[in-house]
Amino acid sequence: MPIFEFQCEECGEIFEELLFSSNFENIKCKRCKSSKVHKLISQVAYKSEGKFVSSSGSGCSSCKGGTCSSCH
Ligand SMILES: [Zn+2]
Repeated sequence: MPIFEFQCEECGEIFEELLFSSNFENIKCKRCKSSKVHKLISQVAYKSEGKFVSSSGSGCSSCKGGTCSSCH
């Protein structure tokens, strides 16, 4: 589930909020209830389970595109 960090511009409080859409206009500070919050770029942001596939190392030397479907 996507969890985003927000910081309150009023009191500086940093809190996490689950977001099911890109609409975070209703997010309010947990401490002072201010709606003046902005989204932080979190280091612990939600990561998908998708694997990063490198283009090098797959395939063989004669098919640098990454797939051997055309040379085998
Ligand atoms: Zn606040």
